[in-house]
Amino acid sequence: MQRFSFARTATDGKARTGVISTPRGDIRTPAFMPVGTAATVKAMMPASVRETGADILLGNTYHLMLRPTAERIDRLGGLHKFMNWERPILTDSGGFQVMSLAALRKLTERGVTFKSHIDGSKHEITPERSMEIQKLLGSDIVMCFDECPALPADRKTISDSMQLSMRWAARSRDAFGDRPGYALFGIQQGGLEEDLRAQSAAALQDIGFDGYAVGGLAVGEGQAAMFRVLDFAPDQLPQDKPRYLMGVGKPDDIVGAVARGIDMMDCVLPSRSGRTGQAFTRHGVVNIKNARHADDPRPLDAACRCPACRDYSRAYLHHVFRSQEIISSMLMTWHNLTYYQDLMSAMRAAIAQGTFADWQDAFHAAREEGDIPPL
Ligand SMILES: [Zn+2]
Repeated sequence: MQRFSFARTATDGKARTGVISTPRGDIRTPAFMPVGTAATVKAMMPASVRETGADILLGNTYHLMLRPTAERIDRLGGLHKFMNWERPILTDSGGFQVMSLAALRKLTERGVTFKSHIDGSKHEITPERSMEIQKLLGSDIVMCFDECPALPADRKTISDSMQLSMRWAARSRDAFGDRPGYALFGIQQGGLEEDLRAQSAAALQDIGFDGYAVGGLAVGEGQAAMFRVLDFAPDQLPQDKPRYLMGVGKPDDIVGAVARGIDMMDCVLPSRSGRTGQAFTRHGVVNIKNARHADDPRPLDAACRCPACRDYSRAYLHHVFRSQEIISSMLMTWHNLTYYQDLMSAMRAAIAQGTFADWQDAFHAAREEGDIPPL
């Protein structure tokens, strides 16, 4: 079987472009992973998600273990078959969402026990159980089970939590075992502290992983603080392995992260914002519910290749959003995912050509212009 591998094809400053190869297909980096929380990217058919340019999806262990359960998905042939997505899937470990969604959480050295936010049933996730669930799902890229403390927190809390996560990383590695063609990623923790991040990176590299995530960011610290950490955190991780920034972000967060050496990202923002009537465009955010669009026959973004822009007017998108028609979520999500994938594609091209600094200037200048003037 083909093994999991990563090849960098070009660098420009700290930014890198390359290809992650897996038995289920290649992932062009920098890569944006749409989020398919409950075995679906909401409002999208899998073939349409692929048409936007996505090479890989993210699935959520916490949601899937509760409903329909990992065991049921395994009996039905695994997550790829279940949701009709044949290309690579990355699953998170469940840890982050236990902390953000579940009730009555109890954290011990062994793992986390909690009550389901759906029906109150009691569950436990340990590093070993997280590896088992992600294997039952058939995930191509498996994430270590870790703990992510909410920020702000004091240094001792961050340090203790990071060290627990490193012990869990070792247990995750042992439980994952040797699975050719599948990858296990470690997750760096340490809050905003450079020395704790360095300790975490060293501990992970001692264990050895196929890729490394920068965890514990995009949890309310703000873009300036996140970028300060990204000025040093990716450099603490191996050059020759993929680096994944979890849960990021807005378009300018993504561009700033790529400029600092990040290869992979995921975020619910393009799909969630689509459902609430927000479109990301080259000229910034457009709120389609705004009355200024009611009579506007022009496309959302004349340069966009998606069906929402190619086949419909702003007036129509405004109308179906106001009328709460299902096609509103479909078209707006399709547009936003297309915008995100085209953003990644443009960054990959600019890095390959060595023009990423100029490309970033043009990206920021277009956003500062703002939306086209009302008619
Ligand atoms: Zn579009």
